[in-house]
Amino acid sequence: SRVSQEIAYEFYSSHQREQNLEQLVLEDELIQALEESWFRVFYQPKIDGNTGAIVGAEALVRCQHPQKGLLPPAKFIPIAEATGLIVPIGLQVLEQVCQDQKQWNNLGLSPLKIAVNLSPLQFRQANLDQTIANLLSTHGLMLLPNFLELEITESCLIANVPRACEILTSLANLGITLAIDDFGTGYSSLEYLQVLPVNVVKIDQCFVRGLDTNPKNASIVKSVIQLCHELNLQVVAEGVETVTEARFLQNLGCDQLQGYLFSRPVPESEFYQFCLDWTAS
Ligand code: C2E
Ligand code: CA
Ligand code: CA
Ligand code: CA
Repeated sequence: SRVSQEIAYEFYSSHQREQNLEQLVLEDELIQALEESWFRVFYQPKIDGNTGAIVGAEALVRCQHPQKGLLPPAKFIPIAEATGLIVPIGLQVLEQVCQDQKQWNNLGLSPLKIAVNLSPLQFRQANLDQTIANLLSTHGLMLLPNFLELEITESCLIANVPRACEILTSLANLGITLAIDDFGTGYSSLEYLQVLPVNVVKIDQCFVRGLDTNPKNASIVKSVIQLCHELNLQVVAEGVETVTEARFLQNLGCDQLQGYLFSRPVPESEFYQFCLDWTAS
Protein backbone atom coordinates (compact mmCIF):
# COMPACT_ATOMS: atom_id res chain seq x y z
CA SER A 1 0.00 0.00 0.00
CA ARG A 2 0.99 3.63 -0.35
CA VAL A 3 1.33 4.20 3.35
CA SER A 4 3.63 1.28 3.87
CA GLN A 5 5.61 2.35 0.81
CA GLU A 6 6.02 5.77 2.31
CA ILE A 7 7.06 4.30 5.60
CA ALA A 8 9.50 2.06 3.79
CA TYR A 9 10.85 5.06 1.91
CA GLU A 10 11.19 7.10 5.09
CA PHE A 11 13.02 4.24 6.70
CA TYR A 12 15.25 3.73 3.69
CA SER A 13 16.20 7.36 3.31
CA SER A 14 17.04 7.90 6.96
CA HIS A 15 19.05 4.71 6.86
CA GLN A 16 20.85 6.00 3.75
CA ARG A 17 21.56 9.31 5.43
CA GLU A 18 23.02 7.57 8.41
CA GLN A 19 25.19 5.45 6.16
CA ASN A 20 26.45 8.44 4.21
CA LEU A 21 27.17 10.25 7.44
CA GLU A 22 29.04 7.27 8.79
CA GLN A 23 31.00 7.11 5.54
CA LEU A 24 31.97 10.76 5.85
CA VAL A 25 33.03 10.33 9.46
CA LEU A 26 35.15 7.35 8.48
CA GLU A 27 36.75 9.20 5.59
CA ASP A 28 37.61 12.06 7.94
CA GLU A 29 39.04 9.61 10.42
CA LEU A 30 41.19 7.95 7.79
CA ILE A 31 42.71 11.31 6.92
CA GLN A 32 43.35 11.91 10.61
CA ALA A 33 44.77 8.41 10.91
CA LEU A 34 47.23 9.17 8.12
CA GLU A 35 48.28 12.46 9.67
CA GLU A 36 48.57 11.13 13.20
CA SER A 37 50.10 7.74 12.33
CA TRP A 38 47.39 5.44 13.61
CA PHE A 39 48.24 2.69 11.13
CA ARG A 40 50.17 -0.33 12.38
CA VAL A 41 51.79 -3.09 10.38
CA PHE A 42 51.38 -6.60 11.78
CA TYR A 43 53.34 -9.60 10.52
CA GLN A 44 52.31 -13.20 9.95
CA PRO A 45 55.13 -15.69 9.32
CA LYS A 46 55.39 -17.94 6.27
CA ILE A 47 56.89 -21.37 6.90
CA ASP A 48 58.90 -23.42 4.40
CA GLY A 49 56.95 -26.60 3.63
CA ASN A 50 60.10 -28.72 3.35
CA THR A 51 62.38 -27.42 6.09
CA GLY A 52 59.95 -25.81 8.54
CA ALA A 53 62.09 -22.67 8.61
CA ILE A 54 60.60 -19.18 8.61
CA VAL A 55 61.10 -17.85 5.12
CA GLY A 56 59.18 -14.63 5.30
CA ALA A 57 56.04 -12.91 6.45
CA GLU A 58 52.99 -11.12 5.18
CA ALA A 59 52.53 -7.52 6.29
CA LEU A 60 48.91 -6.80 7.28
CA VAL A 61 47.70 -3.32 8.15
CA ARG A 62 45.60 -2.39 11.19
CA CYS A 63 44.35 0.96 12.46
CA GLN A 64 44.96 1.85 16.10
CA HIS A 65 41.97 4.09 16.74
CA PRO A 66 42.25 6.13 19.96
CA GLN A 67 38.63 5.44 20.95
CA LYS A 68 37.57 2.37 18.97
CA GLY A 69 40.73 0.34 19.56
CA LEU A 70 42.54 -1.80 17.01
CA LEU A 71 40.55 -1.95 13.76
CA PRO A 72 41.00 -4.79 11.24
CA PRO A 73 41.33 -3.99 7.52
CA ALA A 74 37.71 -5.00 6.86
CA LYS A 75 36.66 -1.91 8.86
CA PHE A 76 38.54 0.63 6.78
CA ILE A 77 40.01 -0.80 3.55
CA PRO A 78 36.71 -0.62 1.62
CA ILE A 79 36.35 3.10 2.38
CA ALA A 80 40.04 3.68 1.77
CA GLU A 81 39.61 2.03 -1.64
CA ALA A 82 36.48 4.03 -2.47
CA THR A 83 38.06 7.36 -1.52
CA GLY A 84 41.53 6.74 -2.95
CA LEU A 85 43.07 7.02 0.52
CA ILE A 86 44.38 3.48 0.10
CA VAL A 87 47.22 4.96 -1.96
CA PRO A 88 48.80 7.03 0.86
CA ILE A 89 47.90 4.31 3.40
CA GLY A 90 49.65 1.72 1.24
CA LEU A 91 52.68 3.96 1.03
CA GLN A 92 52.82 4.21 4.84
CA VAL A 93 52.67 0.42 5.02
CA LEU A 94 55.56 0.08 2.57
CA GLU A 95 57.56 2.68 4.51
CA GLN A 96 56.98 0.89 7.80
CA VAL A 97 58.01 -2.43 6.27
CA CYS A 98 61.24 -0.87 4.99
CA GLN A 99 61.97 0.57 8.45
CA ASP A 100 61.25 -2.73 10.22
CA GLN A 101 63.28 -4.64 7.65
CA LYS A 102 66.21 -2.34 8.31
CA GLN A 103 65.89 -2.73 12.06
CA TRP A 104 65.82 -6.54 11.86
CA ASN A 105 68.86 -6.35 9.64
CA ASN A 106 70.65 -4.22 12.26
CA LEU A 107 69.66 -6.73 14.96
CA GLY A 108 71.30 -9.50 12.93
CA LEU A 109 68.20 -11.36 11.82
CA SER A 110 68.83 -13.06 8.50
CA PRO A 111 66.82 -11.25 5.84
CA LEU A 112 63.23 -12.32 5.47
CA LYS A 113 61.05 -11.77 2.48
CA ILE A 114 58.19 -9.50 3.47
CA ALA A 115 55.06 -9.57 1.36
CA VAL A 116 52.97 -6.41 1.15
CA ASN A 117 49.41 -6.34 -0.17
CA LEU A 118 48.89 -4.02 -3.07
CA SER A 119 45.40 -2.64 -3.67
CA PRO A 120 44.05 -2.48 -7.22
CA LEU A 121 44.18 1.31 -7.06
CA GLN A 122 47.85 1.28 -6.05
CA PHE A 123 48.58 -1.24 -8.76
CA ARG A 124 47.17 1.09 -11.39
CA GLN A 125 49.08 4.18 -10.17
CA ALA A 126 51.42 5.54 -12.80
CA ASN A 127 55.08 5.35 -11.69
CA LEU A 128 54.43 2.66 -9.11
CA ASP A 129 57.84 1.18 -9.91
CA GLN A 130 59.51 4.58 -9.49
CA THR A 131 57.74 5.15 -6.15
CA ILE A 132 58.93 1.80 -4.86
CA ALA A 133 62.45 2.24 -6.23
CA ASN A 134 62.67 5.60 -4.39
CA LEU A 135 61.42 4.03 -1.20
CA LEU A 136 63.98 1.24 -1.38
CA SER A 137 66.88 3.59 -2.02
CA THR A 138 65.75 6.03 0.70
CA HIS A 139 65.96 3.17 3.19
CA GLY A 140 69.21 1.81 1.79
CA LEU A 141 67.53 -1.43 0.84
CA MET A 142 68.42 -1.59 -2.86
CA LEU A 143 71.18 -4.04 -2.00
CA LEU A 144 69.06 -6.44 0.03
CA PRO A 145 68.00 -8.65 -2.85
CA ASN A 146 64.54 -10.06 -3.01
CA PHE A 147 63.49 -8.80 0.37
CA LEU A 148 60.21 -7.40 -0.91
CA GLU A 149 57.28 -9.31 -2.29
CA LEU A 150 54.06 -7.77 -3.53
CA GLU A 151 50.75 -9.63 -3.28
CA ILE A 152 48.31 -8.67 -5.99
CA THR A 153 44.83 -10.17 -6.23
CA GLU A 154 43.95 -12.34 -9.14
CA SER A 155 40.94 -10.19 -10.07
CA CYS A 156 43.15 -7.11 -10.27
CA LEU A 157 45.54 -8.86 -12.69
CA ILE A 158 42.98 -10.34 -15.06
CA ALA A 159 41.07 -7.07 -15.55
CA ASN A 160 43.64 -6.04 -18.17
CA VAL A 161 46.28 -8.68 -18.75
CA PRO A 162 48.55 -6.78 -21.17
CA ARG A 163 48.67 -3.73 -18.87
CA ALA A 164 49.20 -5.95 -15.81
CA CYS A 165 52.07 -7.56 -17.67
CA GLU A 166 53.77 -4.19 -18.21
CA ILE A 167 53.39 -3.15 -14.59
CA LEU A 168 54.60 -6.50 -13.27
CA THR A 169 57.60 -6.44 -15.58
CA SER A 170 58.63 -3.01 -14.31
CA LEU A 171 58.39 -4.29 -10.72
CA ALA A 172 60.19 -7.53 -11.52
CA ASN A 173 63.03 -5.45 -12.96
CA LEU A 174 63.55 -3.97 -9.50
CA GLY A 175 64.12 -7.49 -8.14
CA ILE A 176 60.75 -7.62 -6.41
CA THR A 177 58.99 -10.98 -6.03
CA LEU A 178 55.43 -11.01 -7.33
CA ALA A 179 52.63 -13.10 -5.91
CA ILE A 180 49.08 -13.71 -7.06
CA ASP A 181 46.81 -13.42 -4.02
CA ASP A 182 43.49 -15.20 -3.41
CA PHE A 183 44.20 -17.62 -6.23
CA GLY A 184 41.19 -19.59 -7.41
CA THR A 185 38.55 -17.04 -6.41
CA GLY A 186 38.52 -15.09 -9.68
CA TYR A 187 36.72 -17.63 -11.88
CA SER A 188 39.31 -16.99 -14.55
CA SER A 189 40.98 -19.09 -17.17
CA LEU A 190 44.43 -20.26 -16.23
CA GLU A 191 46.07 -18.95 -19.40
CA TYR A 192 47.22 -15.78 -17.72
CA LEU A 193 49.50 -17.78 -15.43
CA GLN A 194 51.71 -18.44 -18.44
CA VAL A 195 51.70 -14.85 -19.58
CA LEU A 196 52.27 -12.83 -16.41
CA PRO A 197 55.78 -12.51 -14.94
CA VAL A 198 54.85 -13.75 -11.46
CA ASN A 199 56.82 -15.99 -9.09
CA VAL A 200 54.33 -17.06 -6.45
CA VAL A 201 50.72 -18.20 -6.25
CA LYS A 202 48.81 -17.99 -2.96
CA ILE A 203 45.99 -20.51 -2.75
CA ASP A 204 43.00 -18.88 -1.13
CA GLN A 205 42.05 -20.07 2.34
CA CYS A 206 38.64 -21.29 1.18
CA PHE A 207 40.41 -24.20 -0.56
CA VAL A 208 42.77 -24.83 2.35
CA ARG A 209 40.05 -25.03 4.99
CA GLY A 210 39.34 -28.65 5.89
CA LEU A 211 41.43 -29.83 2.98
CA ASP A 212 42.27 -33.06 4.77
CA THR A 213 38.58 -34.01 5.08
CA ASN A 214 37.08 -32.34 2.00
CA PRO A 215 37.98 -34.35 -1.14
CA LYS A 216 36.97 -31.53 -3.50
CA ASN A 217 39.30 -29.03 -1.84
CA ALA A 218 42.01 -31.67 -1.78
CA SER A 219 41.76 -32.23 -5.55
CA ILE A 220 41.72 -28.51 -6.28
CA VAL A 221 44.78 -27.83 -4.15
CA LYS A 222 46.58 -30.86 -5.53
CA SER A 223 46.03 -29.76 -9.14
CA VAL A 224 46.94 -26.14 -8.44
CA ILE A 225 50.24 -27.21 -6.86
CA GLN A 226 50.99 -29.53 -9.79
CA LEU A 227 50.16 -26.90 -12.37
CA CYS A 228 52.14 -24.18 -10.61
CA HIS A 229 55.20 -26.38 -10.25
CA GLU A 230 55.05 -27.24 -13.95
CA LEU A 231 55.05 -23.51 -14.64
CA ASN A 232 57.92 -22.96 -12.21
CA LEU A 233 55.80 -21.05 -9.70
CA GLN A 234 56.07 -21.32 -5.94
CA VAL A 235 52.89 -22.13 -4.05
CA VAL A 236 51.84 -20.67 -0.71
CA ALA A 237 48.83 -22.01 1.17
CA GLU A 238 47.14 -19.44 3.39
CA GLY A 239 44.75 -19.99 6.27
CA VAL A 240 46.45 -23.15 7.56
CA GLU A 241 44.84 -23.78 10.95
CA THR A 242 45.44 -27.43 11.83
CA VAL A 243 48.35 -29.86 11.94
CA THR A 244 46.50 -32.23 9.63
CA GLU A 245 46.01 -29.49 7.02
CA ALA A 246 49.71 -28.64 7.26
CA ARG A 247 50.80 -32.29 6.87
CA PHE A 248 48.48 -32.74 3.93
CA LEU A 249 49.91 -29.66 2.21
CA GLN A 250 53.48 -30.73 2.92
CA ASN A 251 52.76 -34.13 1.36
CA LEU A 252 51.45 -32.38 -1.74
CA GLY A 253 54.74 -30.46 -1.99
CA CYS A 254 53.32 -27.05 -1.06
CA ASP A 255 56.30 -24.66 -0.86
CA GLN A 256 55.13 -22.38 1.95
CA LEU A 257 52.49 -22.48 4.66
CA GLN A 258 50.87 -19.56 6.43
CA GLY A 259 48.12 -19.49 9.02
CA TYR A 260 46.97 -19.37 12.63
CA LEU A 261 48.55 -22.80 13.22
CA PHE A 262 51.94 -21.08 13.26
CA SER A 263 51.02 -17.55 14.32
CA ARG A 264 48.34 -14.92 14.00
CA PRO A 265 49.47 -11.60 12.52
CA VAL A 266 51.38 -9.88 15.37
CA PRO A 267 53.12 -6.53 15.99
CA GLU A 268 56.74 -6.10 14.93
CA SER A 269 58.34 -6.82 18.33
CA GLU A 270 56.31 -9.99 18.79
CA PHE A 271 57.17 -11.12 15.30
CA TYR A 272 60.86 -10.52 15.94
CA GLN A 273 60.62 -12.62 19.13
CA PHE A 274 58.71 -15.32 17.24
CA CYS A 275 61.57 -15.52 14.73
CA LEU A 276 64.15 -15.91 17.51
CA ASP A 277 62.11 -18.57 19.34
CA TRP A 278 61.23 -20.47 16.16
CA THR A 279 64.83 -20.64 15.02
CA ALA A 280 66.03 -21.69 18.49
CA SER A 281 63.52 -24.54 18.86
P1 C2E B 1 44.48 -11.29 2.53
O1 C2E B 1 45.59 -10.59 1.83
O2 C2E B 1 43.87 -12.45 1.83
O3 C2E B 1 45.09 -11.70 3.94
C1 C2E B 1 44.82 -12.88 4.63
C2 C2E B 1 43.85 -12.66 5.75
O4 C2E B 1 43.61 -13.91 6.39
C3 C2E B 1 44.34 -11.74 6.86
O5 C2E B 1 43.23 -11.04 7.41
C4 C2E B 1 44.88 -12.74 7.88
O6 C2E B 1 44.94 -12.21 9.20
C5 C2E B 1 43.87 -13.84 7.76
N1 C2E B 1 44.40 -15.13 8.18
C6 C2E B 1 45.68 -15.56 8.19
N2 C2E B 1 45.77 -16.82 8.63
C7 C2E B 1 44.52 -17.22 8.90
C8 C2E B 1 43.96 -18.45 9.40
O7 C2E B 1 44.66 -19.44 9.68
N3 C2E B 1 42.60 -18.49 9.55
C9 C2E B 1 41.81 -17.42 9.24
N4 C2E B 1 40.50 -17.55 9.43
N5 C2E B 1 42.31 -16.26 8.78
C10 C2E B 1 43.64 -16.16 8.61
P2 C2E B 1 43.30 -9.48 7.75
O8 C2E B 1 44.62 -9.18 8.38
O9 C2E B 1 42.05 -9.14 8.48
O10 C2E B 1 43.29 -8.82 6.31
C11 C2E B 1 42.15 -8.92 5.48
C12 C2E B 1 42.41 -8.38 4.10
O11 C2E B 1 42.67 -6.99 4.13
C13 C2E B 1 43.62 -9.01 3.43
O12 C2E B 1 43.29 -10.27 2.90
C14 C2E B 1 43.90 -7.97 2.37
O13 C2E B 1 43.07 -8.14 1.26
C15 C2E B 1 43.53 -6.67 3.08
N6 C2E B 1 44.75 -6.02 3.58
C16 C2E B 1 45.43 -6.23 4.73
N7 C2E B 1 46.50 -5.42 4.83
C17 C2E B 1 46.51 -4.67 3.70
C18 C2E B 1 47.37 -3.62 3.20
O14 C2E B 1 48.39 -3.23 3.79
N8 C2E B 1 47.03 -3.08 1.99
C19 C2E B 1 45.93 -3.51 1.29
N9 C2E B 1 45.67 -2.92 0.12
N10 C2E B 1 45.12 -4.46 1.72
C20 C2E B 1 45.41 -5.05 2.92
CA1 CA C 1 47.49 -11.13 0.96
CA1 CA D 1 44.86 -13.92 0.41
CA1 CA E 1 41.57 -12.43 0.78
